[in-house]
Amino acid sequence: MALVVIRQDGKIDFWKEALMAESPELQVYGYLEDHPKDNIEMALVWKHPQGSLANYPNLKLIASNGAGVDFIFKDPDVPEGIPITRIVDTKLAEDMSEHVLAVILSHLKNLDTYKLQQTQGIWKPRNYYRISDFTVGIMGLGELGRVLAKDLVRFGFKVQGWANSHKSIENVKTFAGDKELSGFLSSSEILVCLLPLTNKTTGILNISLFEQLPKNAFVINVARGGHLVDDDLISMLDSGHLSGAGLDVYHQEPLPATHPFWQHEKIHMTPHYASVSDPKFVVPQILENYRRMKAGKPLINKISRDKGY
Ligand code: NDP
Repeated sequence: MALVVIRQDGKIDFWKEALMAESPELQVYGYLEDHPKDNIEMALVWKHPQGSLANYPNLKLIASNGAGVDFIFKDPDVPEGIPITRIVDTKLAEDMSEHVLAVILSHLKNLDTYKLQQTQGIWKPRNYYRISDFTVGIMGLGELGRVLAKDLVRFGFKVQGWANSHKSIENVKTFAGDKELSGFLSSSEILVCLLPLTNKTTGILNISLFEQLPKNAFVINVARGGHLVDDDLISMLDSGHLSGAGLDVYHQEPLPATHPFWQHEKIHMTPHYASVSDPKFVVPQILENYRRMKAGKPLINKISRDKGY
């Protein structure tokens, strides 16, 4: 029985070697290799070619090689009824938190503006802001959002969060569901999206949501490009309602050279690198689930097919 790695970013051998180094007895194939299909029980996938999972008649487990699973649900031919797991990695959450903190502090302290002024020889102090002046609202209080909330509290921000259900996080006010979204938005001066991309959250960062934020709010999207309606963001930045945006994820990656985000002075882009999975943390989880699947035990980090996350 064996595991197949399916991804298109040139990293198949990297993950094969990482898995085999931890578990030399495990049979691991890359999906393009000539190998028997009927002994594959587990697929480790990241943005796999649509339809490719249908090639394995005895597949028992689909494991996302990342925290998100949205790309799996985009595949209309993903086999029904097979459990799906994802990566939950404390390091990934810490990395995300560091990234968001860096983006927020850069915005508060006008670092991009000062760099631009420097290149133009301009000496011009801008508005002075302190951490304690700001309320940060986090959409999504899951594995990543919760760690970010705690770190921001530690740094002295006022922090609130929104999720499907209320949470208990010290010094963080939480809001839940559609009914409480407006109340959450109206006091979020910095908005961070850390939602999974699902049918319900696709396009959630749109003009009607932005209008409910306080004037001059700053928006950070580190979740998925599909959460954001790009034209709505540009129009709210141009109208002056939003003061800026920090984006790490995009509808199309790499972002096409002609996309207006590239040249927009209020948009601060990073190339989907807010946090990166470390094989040291990821491989043991994958192997643990492989063993659990073989032993018929409950899987760890299983997602709900119904909820889509
Ligand atoms: P989790 O599944 O742990 O948490 C998701 C959170 O979103 C939960 O709090 C959930 O609420 C909430 N939520 C989901 N749907 C809704 C909804 N319709 N309305 C309100 N709240 C909702 O996810 P993670 O924290 O692990 O990751 C979040 C996302 O971050 C990933 O799906 C991925 O897309 C992205 N990501 C981006 C990376 C990058 O490098 N840019 C790296 C890693 C992840 P509840 O708790 O009540 O169920």
